[in-house]
Amino acid sequence: MERVYNFAAGPAVMPEEVLRRAAEEMLNYRGSGMSVMEMSHRSAAYQDIFDHTVGLFRQLMEIPENYAVLLLQGGATGQFAAVPMNLLHGSADYVDSGHFAHAAMLEAMKYGTVRCAASTREDGYCRVPAQNEIRADSRADYLYICTNNTIYGTSYSYVPESGVPIVADMSSNILSSPCDVRRYGAILAGAQKNIGPAGLTVVIVRRDLLGYARDTTPAVLNWTVMDEKGSMLNTPPTYAIYMAGLCLEWLRDQGGVQAIYARNCRKAALLYSYLDQSRLFHGKAEQGSRSLMNVTFTTGDKELDDAFVRGAAEHGLCALKGHRVAGGMRASIYNAMPEEGVRKLVDFMTRFEENTRKHR
Ligand SMILES: *Cc1c(COP(=O)(O)O)cnc(C)c1O
Repeated sequence: MERVYNFAAGPAVMPEEVLRRAAEEMLNYRGSGMSVMEMSHRSAAYQDIFDHTVGLFRQLMEIPENYAVLLLQGGATGQFAAVPMNLLHGSADYVDSGHFAHAAMLEAMKYGTVRCAASTREDGYCRVPAQNEIRADSRADYLYICTNNTIYGTSYSYVPESGVPIVADMSSNILSSPCDVRRYGAILAGAQKNIGPAGLTVVIVRRDLLGYARDTTPAVLNWTVMDEKGSMLNTPPTYAIYMAGLCLEWLRDQGGVQAIYARNCRKAALLYSYLDQSRLFHGKAEQGSRSLMNVTFTTGDKELDDAFVRGAAEHGLCALKGHRVAGGMRASIYNAMPEEGVRKLVDFMTRFEENTRKHR
């Protein structure tokens, strides 16, 4: 059975080398006589795996000492509630730049006063707001942004400034390009896009923001408690953490974030430059807001879009259907998508365009 090029938005493609390594270590992890899945999370062998994964996060993202790295569960969606429970006391500002930013804002409203500081909802989320459109309150507890809007294929080319801590959902672009962690109060990310398998949620939080969770915060969502317990108040997602460690080793061996960023730029440029000259397909995100990770496009004709998605799948180019709320197509080209996959996609789009023109 041939492996396909998987353009799914998440869970998503993982490096083949990582999957092979996991398969080799599946039954007997490095002489332990058992699978990582079978290990006690309190064992020394497992603690080594855990510490190794956290260490790789710190190394690859250059996370300063005054930030805690928490490995949690509940997904980015769980953190939509955790963020206000840990940080919101007066009011918080949210930038509504897409589906998940909007969901995070609605969730936070359950816990306190939330202001929408900017929104591109009226524009169908085809772009992110510019800095001068964000009306941030200097007394807010934090400003919340989603750095990459997975469904609409948009992202920021700048880090919004507001004078208050920035909380950023980086689920779909963490580790894809250089990121100065010091510009953020807290970063959250579900693992299943650009880190590893589903089940793991990473939170990176500046330590001076710990200690303020409201009393009713569930312990598993309480960053302070989880930091004190080394993320092991209860059983962590042990296997997902091990797999994330293998993926981060792979990323390190590729040359780290700077090297993968250069490759990600080449991959995205291949697709966008094709879209810009195509007379059949067009990109959906505005030029200045284009995502490096999720490329959204359409022919403008639903039946033709469906035919394209089906035809591509027959050629081993899978999961190109856009999210149901956005329609059209979406190619998610995370770190683990090889350049060859993107070249194959552009070749197929070219042939599809030629054939469509012939039949018109
Ligand atoms: C996928 C995604 C989410 C939802 O993540 P879950 O882990 O399913 O809760 C939230 N935000 C962004 C930006 C995403 O891409």
